[in-house]
Formats: sequence, structure tokens, C-alpha cells
Amino acid sequence: MYVDLKPSPSIPLHALDALQDDALLPICVACGTQYPRSHQAVRSSSETRGKSPNASGAGSRDVPECPVCLDPRQYAPASGQQWTTLAELSKDQASGEEKGKGQERKHRLLVDERDERISMIVTEPGFGINQTPILIETADGSYVWDCAAFLSLPLIGHLTSLKRPLKGIAISHPHFFSTSLTWSRALNVPLYLNEDDKEWYQRLGDIRESDPVIWWTGYRELGRGVKVIQCGGHFPGSSVLYWDRLTEPAPPKDDLPTKPTPVSGILFTADTLMVQPTQRGFSFLWSVPNMIPLRPKAILRIYTTLKHLSFDEATSSWPNKWIRPSSSSSSSDSEANDDAKKALEESVILYLAAEGWRLDENGELVELVS
Ligand SMILES: [Zn+2]
Ligand SMILES: [Zn+2]
Repeated sequence: MYVDLKPSPSIPLHALDALQDDALLPICVACGTQYPRSHQAVRSSSETRGKSPNASGAGSRDVPECPVCLDPRQYAPASGQQWTTLAELSKDQASGEEKGKGQERKHRLLVDERDERISMIVTEPGFGINQTPILIETADGSYVWDCAAFLSLPLIGHLTSLKRPLKGIAISHPHFFSTSLTWSRALNVPLYLNEDDKEWYQRLGDIRESDPVIWWTGYRELGRGVKVIQCGGHFPGSSVLYWDRLTEPAPPKDDLPTKPTPVSGILFTADTLMVQPTQRGFSFLWSVPNMIPLRPKAILRIYTTLKHLSFDEATSSWPNKWIRPSSSSSSSDSEANDDAKKALEESVILYLAAEGWRLDENGELVELVS
């Protein structure tokens, strides 16, 4: 169910300051990563702004490059690197080729039909790699998992007036770093980033002592029942968020929900492991856009990190990527793999076999004889 966010009557002053401070910082159009002011200075002096990258031919080299896009785990568009800003993103419509065609950019919440405590924060029209952060509202407080470049006043209004106040933003890996420092300042909440991906944080030099940026490794409890877990693979710090919904208190007897509330564990996987289009299995990719798989050891590490957790649902960081038990016992494909933990086990075996490996009885990798 989509919910439109209405203009909020009260936006905190510190949020307006944060937005204004960062309004003109350069943002890569292809991946949504925000850069410090120094990156912008290069662009201004190049006088390439407004020109089509193709029109300048070899001269397009003087447009600043985006290291995140130049890395093989992303891609620099064939048409050339383009830049925008938070100010441009919010005042005009879609950028790049879609400019002028689409509707004004806005946020909508895609509330999960099974568990209304989970909402995807959708940017429309999409931007970057269509990063879709997820809002998770636990009894103990709310969290935003992952980030996106666009930040609107209605979204700030919504996130600063939640019934369960926002307690933090946690990010799976560098492809979701986007404008997270602006988000953290505007929402005045801690920003959890994995230490092993620090070199990819493009605004490292902009982090002030007063910024509640928390660097972590291994795993980190964010609150009751909610933790981030480092799996590595796609990036050294690639992580998942685990929510053990069994830790949630029972609803008060005089205010029972109209339908059962899920109590099983759920994994928010980003692309540390990616829900396949069939929504029956996972892919383990080092580069998603270039379709380069992870090595067997990296797949095994993800598996050994997650196999002890109790969960039966999983979702990647884009809409409509779920593995979850069927909601209907009359489902005709009861043989289908709809348990996320079982899907993990089977996907690991399938992937390893495709790469020429299997697991022995001790869980060690054994090369298959071809
Ligand atoms: Zn980029
Ligand atoms: Zn990624």
C-alpha cells in the first residue's frame, strides 16, 4: 500500500540548516553519491556545466569523476558522468535525460502488507540506482536501513514525528552512502557505518566532532531485537540488518491489531545477498550491474555468518524483492521454496556447485572434480 507524504507543519530548525548547508554539494547522477565541496570546485572551474558530455568530446574528461562509479561494482554511464545537487533534485523533476518530462520529485511510503511496521521509502521519479531505504518501526524505536540521495521536507516531517521516535540510520555498503551525512544531521540521529568501508565514504573530511557517526565492525546492536551484521563479500563491510520480531512486546489487550503481527525473524539483505527475480532464492554477486559473482569463500562466509540466525523472511533493498512464507495455506505451489533460511541454504549449494565447489560434512569447501 502506497502512502503519500503530506507537507509537514513543523520541520525542525536543525533540519532546515542541514539541508541548506548541503544544498549545493555535488551528487553523482548515476549512483547518487554526494561529494564534498572540493569536488564541486573542480566542476565549476571546468565550465562544463550544462554541456552535454558528448558535445565536449574528449574534453568531457575535465568533468570530475565518481570513484564509486569507476569501480567495477558500479558503472560510469556510457554517455558520461553527470552531476546534480540536493537543491536541483528537489526543485526540478527527474534529472538527466528525463529532465522536464516527469512529475515533481517526491517521496512515497510503500507500507508492507504483512507487517505495517515496515515501509519502503520510495523516491519518485527514481534516482541513482533507485536506492529505496526501509523504515522499520519497532516498539523500542524506529530505524532507517540504508539511504538514498533525495531528501524532502515531507519525509523529514514524517521521520521526525514518528510514534516510535527514530533512533538511527544504518547503511549496508557504499552504494547506499548517498547523502547520508545530510540525512543524519537533518534527522539528528546516529549514522551507523561499517569501519571496513571507511575509504569509500566520500564526505569523510566533512564529518564534524558533533556528528553522531558510529563506525562499527562485526555486529552491532542498534536496539532491542535489531542488529546490523557484517558479512563482507560485495564490499568488505557489506552488512545485513536483522530484526528478531519475537522480542517485540505483545500488543495491549484493549488495542489488538486487526490482523496477526508477524513474530518471525527477518533479514534486510541490501545486495549483500540479493533476492532473485523468482523471489525463491538468493544471488551472491561481487558486482550487481556487471553480473560478476562472489568467490566461493565469500559466499561461505555470508552463509556461516547468517545460518545461526532464526528467520524465515528476507528482502533486498528494492521493492518487490521478498522471500517469505506463503500467506495462504491453500497455495498451489506449496513445494516452492518460500522460507528465506531454506532458500539461503539451497542458494549457497547451487552457487557453489556452479562455481565448481561443494561443502563437505564439516562445512568446508571441496573442489568438485570435473
Ligand atoms: Zn557515481
Ligand atoms: Zn551494491
